Amino acid sequence: MAKIGFVGLGNMGGPMASNLLKAGHELKVFDIVPELVKKSSEQGASSVDDVSEVVKDIDVFISMLPASVHVESLYLGENGILGVIDKSTLVIDCSTIAPSSAKRVSKAADERGLTMLDAPVSGGVGGAVAGTLTFIVGGSDEGLDSARPFLEDMGKNIFHAGGPGAGQVAKICNNMLLSVLMTGTAEALQLGVDNGLDPAVLSEIMRKSSGGNWALEVYNPYPGVMDGVPASNEYEGGFLVDLMIKDLGLAMEAALEKGAATPMGSLARNLYITHGGNGYGRKDFSSIQKVFSKNANR
Ligand code: NAD
Repeated sequence: MAKIGFVGLGNMGGPMASNLLKAGHELKVFDIVPELVKKSSEQGASSVDDVSEVVKDIDVFISMLPASVHVESLYLGENGILGVIDKSTLVIDCSTIAPSSAKRVSKAADERGLTMLDAPVSGGVGGAVAGTLTFIVGGSDEGLDSARPFLEDMGKNIFHAGGPGAGQVAKICNNMLLSVLMTGTAEALQLGVDNGLDPAVLSEIMRKSSGGNWALEVYNPYPGVMDGVPASNEYEGGFLVDLMIKDLGLAMEAALEKGAATPMGSLARNLYITHGGNGYGRKDFSSIQKVFSKNANR
């Protein structure tokens, strides 16, 4: 069993840390929200008062923070942990951040002789709790070999996307595609309903036809068509519109940086921003259906 330092005990990081504890690892945790640290301590982690303490005498360091700015300030800032962490420590950042940011942090880690991976996740809070997350990893083969046992304690699928930053690129490509297919599915369903079709019948026809996709298979956005999905629960739970907006922003940044054309992603981002501005930011992203609904409650 390993000694692990874990920073960022939010919706995702909290249950991920909990699964590492359940797997028998020794955990030292830190979050700027004391209640979250207390909760993790009650599960068996040891807590410290300062982030510089988390990195002392550990084998692996894992971070799960909101965005690029938090990750860069944790690792590179004035008191950045890359300056104090022991060279033998394996460093894994699981946050979803800009690929350019991940590369910057990874380069700085490399210059200090540390092995670092970017390992953003897919699978949401449910996957974090159940330990069934998908990890999309960027970094070296050797780094991933060392990280694999720990990632397996928190997830089910592990993909190696390529070198430093590649995990982030693959993650934002996937989420951009997801936003486009969800928006297109909602648009098609509403067109059918407006023309007198039953959304359940239309869903089944499209699912088995050339329009079939993941949303129609397991995450139908039209209320009442599918049991157990956010659309049938007032769009509660699931993957927040605000987080989709964040990921689409990262996709647009990456596109601008390389001069890539992303017209569909750009349109989806604008639709999601408008939708979020209409009060749906904390709802599941399949609530984009409301943008097309004539009875939209907005
Ligand atoms: P969250 O806001 O719930 O958790 C982030 C935690 O980081 C918070 O507890 C916050 O207090 C803490 N934090 C911020 N700055 C800190 C610092 N300097 N030192 C210590 N702690 C600090 O966010 P989340 O939902 O857990 O998401 C984390 C990451 O995972 C994000 O990048 C998100 O995009 C990604 N993600 C989230 C989901 C999801 O469904 N929630 C799914 C996939 C990926």
